This record gives sequence, C-alpha cells and structure tokens, in this order.
Amino acid sequence: MRGFFYRLGNTIQHFMRGRYGIDEFGSFLLFSGMFLSLLSLIKVKIFVWLWIPSFALIIWSYVRCFSKKIDKRRRELVRYQKIKNRIRDKFAYWRRRFRERKTHKYYRCRLCKTVLRVPKGKGKIEITCPKCKGRITKKT
Ligand SMILES: [Zn+2]
Repeated sequence: MRGFFYRLGNTIQHFMRGRYGIDEFGSFLLFSGMFLSLLSLIKVKIFVWLWIPSFALIIWSYVRCFSKKIDKRRRELVRYQKIKNRIRDKFAYWRRRFRERKTHKYYRCRLCKTVLRVPKGKGKIEITCPKCKGRITKKT
C-alpha cells in the first residue's frame, strides 16, 4: 500500500512538473465555486441555476492549476490581488467612517477628489486640501 501511494505521489509530481498549480486566486475560484454549489442545493428556484456559475468557477480553477502558461497565470493573480485590495480598502474606509461618525466629518476636495477628514463640532471652518492646497469652507 505504501508503494502504491509512493508511485501515485511520483505520478502526480511528474504530471504537475511545469504546471502552474494552486495560488490565492485559484483557491478563491475553487471556494467560491463550492460556495455557489452549496447555495444551489437550497430549495429555492433561483438558486438552482447557481450550479452553472459554480461549475464554471471550479473548472476555471482546475484549468489554471494545470496550465503551463505560468506568466499568464501570474498576471491573473496580480490583477486579482489588485481588485481584492481595492475592495478591502473601500471596506476599511467605510468602517472607519462609520466608527468615527460622531467625531469626524468627511468631505471630498472639489479639485482633486481627495477625501478630507475633519473633526466635528468646530463650527464653520476652512479646510485646506493637503494634496492640491485647494480650500473649501464647511460647517462641521
Ligand atoms: Zn485637493
């Protein structure tokens, strides 16, 4: 039996040589595919159709895993991470904004769209944008 697993391991290792394997994006695809397939098991009419995207996501993760186009897969990973970070930063921003809703106000600079954070309850103040030095007057 040990010999069998040893040979199986060797075969897999040989098969995976020069192939991309699993990365963060691959496991994301796989897990979201599995998640959708679980949802599709719920007895709700619209959820039944989720097996299609679920199947597609799982196939996609396998295709990436066995792909020999390493460069292309790496670029996909970078693109995925960029999008993920953007979403994470957005969430962090809104969470902070909500947490500080009683102490700070948020404005957007008219010129460069930078978000400006100022303490609340200071009356009418002039805010200078640290990025473009543009000024706005606001009541806080
Ligand atoms: Zn500005």
